[in-house]
Amino acid sequence: MITVIMLFISGLIIGSFVNALQYRIQVNKKNIGRSYCPKCKHQLVWYDIFPVLSWITLLGKCRYCQKRISIQYPLIEMITGGLFVSIGIKSGLVLKINDVLFGFINISNILITKYLFMLLLLLLITTILILLALHDAKTSYILSFYVYAGIVLSIGYHLIEYGGKWQIDKIFNYLLPFLISGIIPALLFLLLCVFSRGKWMGAGDAELALFTGIFLGLFLTPVAYYFAFIVGAVYGVSKIITKKSKMKSAIPFGPFLVTGCFFAYICGDYLITYYLRFMGL
Ligand SMILES: [Zn+2]
Repeated sequence: MITVIMLFISGLIIGSFVNALQYRIQVNKKNIGRSYCPKCKHQLVWYDIFPVLSWITLLGKCRYCQKRISIQYPLIEMITGGLFVSIGIKSGLVLKINDVLFGFINISNILITKYLFMLLLLLLITTILILLALHDAKTSYILSFYVYAGIVLSIGYHLIEYGGKWQIDKIFNYLLPFLISGIIPALLFLLLCVFSRGKWMGAGDAELALFTGIFLGLFLTPVAYYFAFIVGAVYGVSKIITKKSKMKSAIPFGPFLVTGCFFAYICGDYLITYYLRFMGL
């Protein structure tokens, strides 16, 4: 339980960091100065930027200019906290680390380091995915640098998870399904992008597809797309019905693909088992 609470709190803090980083990227601010209110430029103190609680106690308004603070801030913090917990638990790493911490099991130091490192990579990948989705939702741009950082981290994660012999051909065989599930959808998106001249899909979507595919692998990637297209369609239709957008206006696909990716990671295996049973397999 303590491990879970710690994980949630670190998620809240990292979520707050993601909000700040995204804002800085959007306004192209390179220096890492103190946070300030985007509306009145008043510098913020620690109790103004305390995750979630600040927003609630300030009733969603800036302490200095009384202008509204977007619900995005507490929302991203809560989502990051929730994802850290659910992804950490789902990976099985939290339980293992927990058991070691409380002395239920005894394993070698190498193994503990391996688990801790894997959890760290997993949470980093999660953070990058949230940042990419947030930035895409706000600006319709996919941040290439973070996509490639995510790809490197994903491959690193799979390599640490790989328990076989360190021979080039064996490692390659192990990584191949992950690479395929990234490259195939990325190529399809790239084709769509070229044919529609960037109207249906952007090149950034192809890069993101490469990242999520390499992270998820062959079984979970289709689940991610299945879910991304359903959520995307529901969102698109509801926007047209409420007349907030026209049929033609492009909706960034990144946030849906990232949502699908998290959904697939957390409950994709249940869905696959259920589906196979449903098909009588
Ligand atoms: Zn203000």
